[in-house]
Amino acid sequence: MISKVLIANRGEIALRIIAACREAGLATVAVHSEADRDSLHVRMADETVCIGPAYANVSYLNITAVIAAAEITGADAVHPGYGFLAENAHFAEVVGECGLTWIGPPPEAIRLMGDKATARRTVAAHEVPILPGSAEPLTSREKAVELAESIGFPVILKASAGGGGKGMRVASDARELRHAFDTARHEAERAFGVADVYLEKYLTSPRHIEVQVMADTHGRVVALGERECSIQRRHQKLIEEAPSPVVDEELRGRMCEAAQKCAEAVGYVSAGTVEFLYDGGEFYFMEMNTRIQVEHPVTEAVTGIDLVLEQLQVAGGQPLSFRRRPKITGHAIEFRINAEDPVTFAPSPGTITELCYPVGPGVRIDTHITKGYRVPPYYDSLLAKLIVSGRDRREAIRRAGRALSMLVVGGVKTSIPLHQRIIEDPDFVEGRLSTQFMERFAQRD
Ligand code: ADP
Repeated sequence: MISKVLIANRGEIALRIIAACREAGLATVAVHSEADRDSLHVRMADETVCIGPAYANVSYLNITAVIAAAEITGADAVHPGYGFLAENAHFAEVVGECGLTWIGPPPEAIRLMGDKATARRTVAAHEVPILPGSAEPLTSREKAVELAESIGFPVILKASAGGGGKGMRVASDARELRHAFDTARHEAERAFGVADVYLEKYLTSPRHIEVQVMADTHGRVVALGERECSIQRRHQKLIEEAPSPVVDEELRGRMCEAAQKCAEAVGYVSAGTVEFLYDGGEFYFMEMNTRIQVEHPVTEAVTGIDLVLEQLQVAGGQPLSFRRRPKITGHAIEFRINAEDPVTFAPSPGTITELCYPVGPGVRIDTHITKGYRVPPYYDSLLAKLIVSGRDRREAIRRAGRALSMLVVGGVKTSIPLHQRIIEDPDFVEGRLSTQFMERFAQRD
């Protein structure tokens, strides 16, 4: 059993976790940087500890400081949220070694899935389809070219330790690949401290469709259906929805089964996501994210299951509250409201001078911002998530229009106007989505 949860995160997800803890009757400890002293997650937690200066590497990423905060406050469990230390297997291990409960998967599962080349090999051995590509990190430029020629261009180079779209390079011929090989390695080294890259076949216009899984310590693994996350800019998700407009019950069954196999292959526990690319015919494993994801609320909206609460219960040794894949009811869409220029996507830090939330049926907002809040320049630009739901996709889109028009965030530039234009786009309305959607959308302007 657990009784006091330290939240090793900030922003909307820290508040989301506090909300679940409150419902579960668990006490909360917020850790924060000096820049987040006045944040809402700090105000809402039962206890708080400042763990360092603004920069994440000396605060939210400082393992010693986070563990010390847990010891000082007598917390007995740690929830890492997403980002920061969430997929750091070493941190998960340290948490366990200090006698604290890790609210997440076993460190070994994080490690196996964290190295993407290993993850590909692991799931392929369990008959989960992967794109043709390298089984091991590439050792030389010429080896890369040789492999690419055997599977056919275009190919994509990816950092083995990758995440957040960094270290990825597409090459459509040998010349481009030779050049991309060095840049990708360099970028990977800089971003992740490991230069290893691998390559796989590049699909020109696929959909990104992922499956939410939940597993408990009693051997039960359940897939909760898919989310479509094809609307991305620079390989980063902008809008996510559940269910996917193209996934029928037969395909859902196959994807869920594959996702379940991935989780079972690594002895998974807690919430995780298996990401696939789907080209209209087949779907292929891309990676598994071993944490709760930003877009988890759309799955919550269509299944009625509180995923973070389930995580807390599983960490406390309880079984999942459901036995099999839940029924999907209605449709939900999440819009990431970022503090950024809607055209250039440049971050737009500043002070929130005005704030007004939409009202009416089918609206959920997960956010940490308040009027007068200063958006710090040190962290990611996510201000809020607007989640709308309806009986079907059409109703959800209509509600999105109403909710986006009523959502007022003054003082910084936001992605709200961009979302308003996207939901009026005929391809979006018809559900004709692909990861190239935003590129085509920008060209149409
Ligand atoms: P990261 O972990 O850095 O986010 P992912 O492997 O999840 O990287 O890929 C992010 C996005 O990059 C995908 O959603 C997709 O848009 C694009 N992508 C990745 N691999 C491929 C591929 N083989 N073919 C086409 N697009 C891809």
